[in-house]
Amino acid sequence: MTRVVPQNITVRGARELLDGGDVSSVELTQAFIDRIDAIESSVKSFVTVTPGLALEQACAADERIDSGNAAALTGIPMQLKDNMATRGVATTCSSRILEGFIPPYDATVATKLYEEGAVLVGKGNLDEFAMGSSTENSAFFPTRNPWDLDRVPGGSSGGPAAAVAAGECVYALGSDTGGSIRQPAALCGVVGLKPTYGLVSRYGLVAFASSLDQIGPITKDVGDAAHVLNAIAGHDPRDSTSIDGDVPDYKKALTEDIKGLRVGVPKEYFVEGMEPGVEDAIRRAIDTLAAMGAVVSETSLPSTPYAMAVYYIVAPSEASANLARYDGVKYGYSTDTPGNMWDSLEDTRREGFGPEVKRRIMIGTYALSAGYYDAWYKKALQVRTIIRQEFRQVFQEFDVLVSPTSPSVAFPLGDKTADPYMMYLNDVFTQPANIAGIPAISVPAGMCDGLPVGLQFMASHLQEGKLLRAAHAYEQATEWHTLQPDL
Ligand code: GLN
Repeated sequence: MTRVVPQNITVRGARELLDGGDVSSVELTQAFIDRIDAIESSVKSFVTVTPGLALEQACAADERIDSGNAAALTGIPMQLKDNMATRGVATTCSSRILEGFIPPYDATVATKLYEEGAVLVGKGNLDEFAMGSSTENSAFFPTRNPWDLDRVPGGSSGGPAAAVAAGECVYALGSDTGGSIRQPAALCGVVGLKPTYGLVSRYGLVAFASSLDQIGPITKDVGDAAHVLNAIAGHDPRDSTSIDGDVPDYKKALTEDIKGLRVGVPKEYFVEGMEPGVEDAIRRAIDTLAAMGAVVSETSLPSTPYAMAVYYIVAPSEASANLARYDGVKYGYSTDTPGNMWDSLEDTRREGFGPEVKRRIMIGTYALSAGYYDAWYKKALQVRTIIRQEFRQVFQEFDVLVSPTSPSVAFPLGDKTADPYMMYLNDVFTQPANIAGIPAISVPAGMCDGLPVGLQFMASHLQEGKLLRAAHAYEQATEWHTLQPDL
């Protein structure tokens, strides 16, 4: 058997090994389980590890491979963020209120991956209900950055990003409401893609902010992102906001040619307070794109400074409505404290939700309440429309936009937990794409003090092809995606 080094294995690499008969899926899966056993106590990227299920699925995958019916992801180990429903496997959202909850159904993304013959090695840690940027809001434990275990992996998909960076799975799925796929991907030195709103079904994704939430792949490189997106994109009648249309083959976007591609650099994405090392790396990346033949010029999205305010009204408003369902009656945690119905409801929620989730529910309830609705929620929606229009206009002139993914590299655990505003600032560059519903990707683009820097590309609605083309070409011209943490 070929010796498997989990850290080095991409989706395409695994496909070759499996189809060529160099390893079986059971052997490959066992190698990842061994890797998890060896390093998980220091990385802590999993809420639940599922070795039994994984080996069962691997066995079935081997039969499928032997019979010549393998799909692109058959037999390949992956992790799902723990806010995606998995039948028979605990789905907690890293919250006490869902501790021990075992869904009776699968999220559409899980169904699609299982149909491909994918192997689930476990569920990834996150900030409680995906609210946060460091995974420190997990009710269970923080995940650590594989590049420096004293630093955060970013969030809220910190578990999935750290797991991919550490070689605990080949790829993972994260969710992104304001940056939760791209920011942790950037901080962990991997690739994170947030698709167009509605391209990937949200059925079975535990709702945070329904008009912003989107599922997408976290992978070692851009080629893998295209392969995973092929498997999960597409219309789903169970998600009323799912886009009904043909899905192209995203692999076709993986050319290495970006000659003539019109690349815009929005000046509002280079702000004061940004880490100088990050800005240097991004400026160098932009020079690389120009040297490769892209037509690079500066542009402007003037309402960008309002995006964060819009996000922190819209997202909590939707969250306050979505989280009303956790009442201790239907499922999840229920208080032991005796009392009448209202007391029980209050106690369940007081004991079950962590402080950040409570903060969001209070902000959202306030913004939606009679007398304040017009001043806050309605105003935010108006500004949201302006932000969308500005993107629409700029994309008439440009194929893609580039920016840093995050203003800083991975920060030490505990550094920003005392100041929610400092934590919120992590997502200034990622939230606009959610507000507008457009696709965006983060790719490794340099190192600053031994920590990865992420470059973000944004494209217009359903232009994942352009996004992948630009990101892939950049990646292939550089070495950043090949660097690995020394664990
Ligand atoms: N960090 C942002 C927040 O706390 C975004 C989270 C996300 O994308 N799920 O809301």
